[in-house]
Amino acid sequence: MMNFKNIKVISFDADDTLWQNENLFRRTECDFCKIMLPYSKKEKAIKVLWNMEVKNIPLYGYGIKAFTLDMLDAALKLSKGKLTAEETKQIINLGKKLIKSPIVLFEGAERTLKKLNKKYKIVVTTKGDLLEQENKIYRSGLDRYLHHIEVMSEKNKASYARLLKELNIKPQEFLMVGNSVKSDILPVLEIGANAVFIPSKFTWFYEDGDESKIPAKNFLKLKEISELIKIL
Ligand SMILES: [Mg+2]
Repeated sequence: MMNFKNIKVISFDADDTLWQNENLFRRTECDFCKIMLPYSKKEKAIKVLWNMEVKNIPLYGYGIKAFTLDMLDAALKLSKGKLTAEETKQIINLGKKLIKSPIVLFEGAERTLKKLNKKYKIVVTTKGDLLEQENKIYRSGLDRYLHHIEVMSEKNKASYARLLKELNIKPQEFLMVGNSVKSDILPVLEIGANAVFIPSKFTWFYEDGDESKIPAKNFLKLKEISELIKIL
């Protein structure tokens, strides 16, 4: 359970918490597999791509630019170096299309931020590419409700501790809301802050965490974002 009366800052994860994101990657993976058909079956192409993504995280971090390089890297491997210039161009265009995808807010996201903004400082804490994430926040129109935007290279204990120091608040005054057990919930609870888990229909396999490992203290699971209005 959670002690709400101490909370001063509510931080929202962005992708798959405020707006749809992972479904776009799923669709792009399908498009990638179609381009790879001359070289590989779909199942193998997906597997090679996912392995490439995980392998390259320490080098590129997160986001669509990294994902585009991962697709090219995987395509070279799947085609055994026979990838054509036309196919290379098609893959680069998949990345560009993904970057330009419209932001589709989740039902109740704007209403929730607007309401909570009157009582709390609202922050968005996301990871990945700075330009890409900032652009998404501005294009979402939600920036008007935000006190602060934090783009981290990795959402871990040290990053959250740094953010709290920057915001000049104690762990019990901070609440993180997100869809990733691994990035939004566990490290936040570990530093003694509060966390609300809102599972998303689509979550990147890399962000999946074992829900049974979440301690009950300072933690709450909700079905949708607007439920926050009722409890805070
Ligand atoms: Mg997320």
